[in-house]
Order: sequence, then structure tokens, then C-alpha cells
Amino acid sequence: MPDSSRTGEKVFRGIAVSAGVAHGKVFLLGRLASSIPDYEVSEDGVHEQVNRLERALVETRLQIADVQRHVSEAMGAEDASIFDAHLLVLEDQTLINEVVRAIQQKRLNSEAAFHQVSERYAAALGAVDDEYLRERASDIRDVTSRVIHNLQGKGDLLHLKQFKDPCILISHELSPCTTAQLDRKMVLGFATETGGRTSHTAILARSLHIPAVVGLKDLSQHLETGHHVVVDGYNGLVILNPTDQTLFEYGQLVERHSSLDVKLQGLRDKPAVTLDGVKVVLSANIDQPEDGPSIDSCGAEGVGLYRTEYLFINRDALPTEEEQYEAYRSVAEAAKPNALIIRTLDIGGDKFPSHIQNPIESNPFLGWRGIRLCLQEQGMFRSQLRAILRAGVVGNIKIMYPMISCLQELEEANKILAECQAELRSKSIPYASEIEVGIMIEVPSAVAIADSLAKRVKFFSIGTNDLIQYTLAVDRMNERVAHLYQATHPALIRAIHQTVEAAHRHGIWVGVCGEMAGDRDVTLLLLGLGVDELSATPSVVPEIKALIRRSKMKEAKALATFALACESDVEILARSRDLGRRSAPHLFESNQSGAG
Ligand code: PEP
Ligand code: MG
Repeated sequence: MPDSSRTGEKVFRGIAVSAGVAHGKVFLLGRLASSIPDYEVSEDGVHEQVNRLERALVETRLQIADVQRHVSEAMGAEDASIFDAHLLVLEDQTLINEVVRAIQQKRLNSEAAFHQVSERYAAALGAVDDEYLRERASDIRDVTSRVIHNLQGKGDLLHLKQFKDPCILISHELSPCTTAQLDRKMVLGFATETGGRTSHTAILARSLHIPAVVGLKDLSQHLETGHHVVVDGYNGLVILNPTDQTLFEYGQLVERHSSLDVKLQGLRDKPAVTLDGVKVVLSANIDQPEDGPSIDSCGAEGVGLYRTEYLFINRDALPTEEEQYEAYRSVAEAAKPNALIIRTLDIGGDKFPSHIQNPIESNPFLGWRGIRLCLQEQGMFRSQLRAILRAGVVGNIKIMYPMISCLQELEEANKILAECQAELRSKSIPYASEIEVGIMIEVPSAVAIADSLAKRVKFFSIGTNDLIQYTLAVDRMNERVAHLYQATHPALIRAIHQTVEAAHRHGIWVGVCGEMAGDRDVTLLLLGLGVDELSATPSVVPEIKALIRRSKMKEAKALATFALACESDVEILARSRDLGRRSAPHLFESNQSGAG
């Protein structure tokens, strides 16, 4: 731990989310309010605000027309005509003139002006007796959210393009969409004031190998662009004005990690098997087709989770079936002969492509997300399923549905899958007719009905990131409640146990693809609970393999027996960590010293 009393050095503590050390100059990204920004603009700024509004209106119009075209192609012109009402809102001169007047006369920024005026219109329409007019209120709100989204999104990306030199990005928050666009060469590391270890932003940082710390509360108030900092992604620290001694100590830490990496590299082609001979399937989680080569280089046995969302975000239009087919085919080739588990779209929550109407929801993670969204946006779902089925001819692909919470969702998704197969068959297009279907277990209701689900699928993969947040009612992205987000909470341990028992009763395998699978503090606990497969981000696969190879399943089982009877998350974690440390001490020592 750097000594804060050293001259000029200041240490800020947050949550370590992506390993590594970065040092360089700060680039402070403007605070991106999660609510609608509301501020007064100068007289000179009025013109720019009106211009921003006009650009956002044009962009929104193009997006809606594009969505309309897709819906029309997939579902027919009649369904697509609902978007006419949205386009009419954008062309309503009375509304737009009033927004412009609010900018000019009240000196409001365009987001606030648009929101205030449109909300007044929507509230007035929402209060009338006529059903048709009441529906127009929801059209106005839908369009407003998209215009505001475009106004905000633009600001964000504009800033990102300003990097001239490599820097450390400091921000109030970073969305997964923005994080996915970060250029590794320009962003050496990042730190945010909000966020948690299993937020999608954190997961992406790990997959991009960008050292990162989140949950640093009011960090940006203490830093300015140009300040010199170290981001310590091992210990969750940001150090302002590091002294030479601190930099030297970090140099040593980095060296120790590099030599450990070299040693772990030697295990690449070895199996993940315990000392008492139990083989574990250790696979990789990937986010983009470009991650294909990392499957082999990290020594993983295929892909346990391919998050396909990133193919859909940060672009102007939906990917075509052909484009998806190419992406899935290329990853299947890279994973061959091992399995590639493609998770169907899990958008919603914190990930929304710009071409899908982003609804304003009070609880987005409980809302229009994952399989729920796909079952309603069937054109998009069907094109993804067709692409997966076609790519299944080339490699060993399995399909996995996210966010299943009841039998009906599974049955409906499977019905659509069967229809896609029939469609391909009727057109004589080659496809995988025997493709295996599994589901993510990440909603507590799915744990409770795991027996019924297990009868109908070929595998389960436990999504602990969501299962923890939904079981414990703790937002995975909220640093204020991060201390309650406990993977070793007895409720979680029992939920995992219940899921594994149900799966094995019905003769199917069960994996874990949430971040718990790559957390060496709990790896042995998961194995003891009977999990058959672990799927983790490629950067941690080597150390998880090393730990498995130095452990005994007999001891892991004893640990699980203890955990199932224990009432304290702290004690379960301590025991689990202790067994890990005793099994492979070298893996647990490398973060110490310079960084504490
Ligand atoms: C999970 O919830 O554990 C999971 C793997 O899915 P995601 O992190 O993408 O929600
Ligand atoms: Mg999930």
C-alpha cells in the first residue's frame, strides 16, 4: 500500500474490477448524469443547443425509419405502421417550436427543454378520456426517451474521440456500450465513481485487459485532466501524484505478475484435472468474434458463454443474418472441436442498441430484458436463431437462452427455434438439426423450478452475476450496496446446490458462467458443490486451471458440506479462500507488496 503521508501522493480506494497496473495522465470525462441533464446555457451556447437538438431529431428519425423497415420486412407493413405515430411526433412543428423557444428564452440545454415540453404534452394527452389520444402520450414518451438518449450518447462519444495521447480515463460512470468502444492503445486504464464488480462495464474491462477500478464515489472532484495517476486494478486503488518509490514498487508488482503469467502459460495444453483425478471442463467467456484466438491461447476448452449483445450495439442498424452467421461461424471455427455456447441476445438492463426503442423503465433489470425482449421482438430473434443454426453446421455450437424465469418462456423460445429449423429446411439451407439447447439459471424462480426445466434442456449454466443480484435484491452496478453483493451468502450457496442437484437428477450437466467462475477465492467451493463446468474470462482461465490442478476434489466436497451448513457468508468465504491458498499459495501472493 503506498504511504499517503508521502509528499503530494493521495490514495483513493474503490473496487478492483480488472487486474493490471496503468499509469499516465488523467482524461476526465464529463459527468454523465443518469438522470436528464438540466443546466442553464450561456447566450453564445444557445445556437449550439438548437443545432444539437436538430441533429438528434434527424438521427432519431433515421433510427425509427430503420426500425420500421426491419419490422416491416419481418412482420409486415401493418405492424410497422405503429412507427408512423412516432415519426409524426418528430415532425410536430408546434412541439418542436416550443422546445426551441424553451432553449432560446429559458436558456435551457436541449435535453431539459425537450423533456420539459414533451412531458407537458404527454401528461395532457394521458389525462384525457379518449383511448386513442392516451396512446399518443406513450408515443411522445417513447420518442422523447430516444431523442434524449441520442443527445446524451453524442456527447459521450464526442469526448471519447478527443483523445490525442494515451491516458487514464476517469469518469462518473461508463456504459457498457461506451466501454466496448474503448481503444486499448489510447485508454491505458480507467476508474469510475459508480459500478460494481459484476457490472457489464467491469466484465468488458477484464475482457479488454484494461486495468480498472470502480465505485470511487467522488473521485472526479479530486482530479483534473492532465493529473498523473496510477490505476491499481489488483487492489482497487487510484493513486494521485505517485512518488518514485510507489512507481518502483508497482514496477516490481507488474514484474511478479508477468513471471507468474509465463509459468501459467506452461499449463495451456494441460487438462483442468484435480490431484485426485476429477476432470473439470474449463471454458472461456467471450464478447466479440475477435476474441476467438484467445480461446486457444488461454488454454480454455471451448466457449461456455458468448455474449452476442456486442454484435448489436454501437452501430446504426441491426446486424443482418448473414453478418451474424459469419461472426458465429468464425468463433465456432476457433473453438473447434470444442463447444461454442452462443447465448441468444441478452439486451435490456444496461445494454440497449440504438436501433431498438429504449424504454424508460423504473427497474430496467426487472424489465424488458433477455428472452422477454426476444420473444416480443421476434424478427430480430428469428434472424439470430437462423444464423446460429446455419453456423452450427460448421462447428460444435449449442444455444443458450438468458433470463429464463418460467417454463412458458422456454417453450415459446423452443417453438420459435423449431419454426426457424422448418423454414431453413423448406429452403434447403443446411442447418444443425440436432443442436443442443440449454438455459442460463440466473433468476431465483428458475432455481425453484430447476427440476421442471432440467427435463426440457441439455444443460444449465448458472449466471451468478444476476442470480446474486436477484436473490439478494442487490443491484450489481451500485457501489453503495456493493458490500451486500456477496457470492458466498448462504442463500446463494443453497441455490447453486439446488440447481446442481436438479440438473444431475435429470442427467444433464451444469456450469457456472458468471464472474464467480473466474474468482479463485470461490473456485473450489463451486467444484465441491458439484458444478461440472466453469466458464471465465480468458485472462483468468490460466490461474483457475492452475488452482484446479493443485486441489483435491475430496477437500472441495468437504468445503461445500461445511458451506451448506454454515450461516455466515464471511466464514464461508474465509474457508474457501483458505483452501485455495493452501492448495496453490503462489496464486494468492502476487498482489502483495507495493500495492498492499
Ligand atoms: C450472469 O448473469 O452471471 C451472466 C453470465 O450474464 P451477464 O453477466 O451477461 O448478465
Ligand atoms: Mg446475466
